[in-house]
Amino acid sequence: MAASSPASAPPSSQSLSARLAGIRMRMDAAARTVGRDPGSVTLTAVSKTQPPDAIDTALAAGLRVFGENRVQEAQARWTDRRLSLPDLELRLIGPLQSNKAEDAVALFDVIETLDREKLVGALAAAQDKTGRRPRVLVQVNTGEEPQKAGVAPRDADALIAAARAAGLNVEGLMAIPPADEEPILHFALLARIAARNGLPVLSMGMSGDYEAAIRLGATYVRLGTALFGERNPSLAFSNA
Ligand SMILES: *Cc1c(COP(=O)(O)O)cnc(C)c1O
Repeated sequence: MAASSPASAPPSSQSLSARLAGIRMRMDAAARTVGRDPGSVTLTAVSKTQPPDAIDTALAAGLRVFGENRVQEAQARWTDRRLSLPDLELRLIGPLQSNKAEDAVALFDVIETLDREKLVGALAAAQDKTGRRPRVLVQVNTGEEPQKAGVAPRDADALIAAARAAGLNVEGLMAIPPADEEPILHFALLARIAARNGLPVLSMGMSGDYEAAIRLGATYVRLGTALFGERNPSLAFSNA
């Protein structure tokens, strides 16, 4: 399904702003099909591995919400830029090691990848130390794939409760469905876990499946390839 979607990467000759216009049209249409306000869905531009000129083009096109999957790469890229961008929102979408929790809390506005109890303690300590309190999403491994980060669906409620008890600002859930499965069941599962925990934010949907994700309630979609074109494979790294 993902590979045949009309949302897959357009030719790189197309400009970012043209791709963005097409993406926004598809996002709005997907929201309207299910009676949702298109304004309730935010596009996160996944800028991992993109060269500086691609970032500047995205900023010039008006994008302000960016997803990065490595703390150090994000620090190098955004620490200076963000000084002149008061409305920038940086979202960590890759796995977080406990020993990087303080750096992550210091830089990111949202951490989408809380996936274990140990990280709850590290993030709470980092909040105390830095005085910052980023919004947090719990990442759920809806496909229970051994190689992928995320809490198992059956353990999600307990992790959410522990994070809340520790003073983390938990606002929603994030998932990356298995690449080789129909994503709809995974999106629906994530939406159910969020609903029963009273969480309003759902980060789900990537370049190949964001319209389906919006139809199932996504409030953030994370788009790399559809927006920037193919990533340079020599710079690529695992997003498991
Ligand atoms: C890379 C990445 C994306 C973007 O993937 P595309 O298919 O290029 O849109 C989204 N979410 C996460 C967690 C990623 O690592």
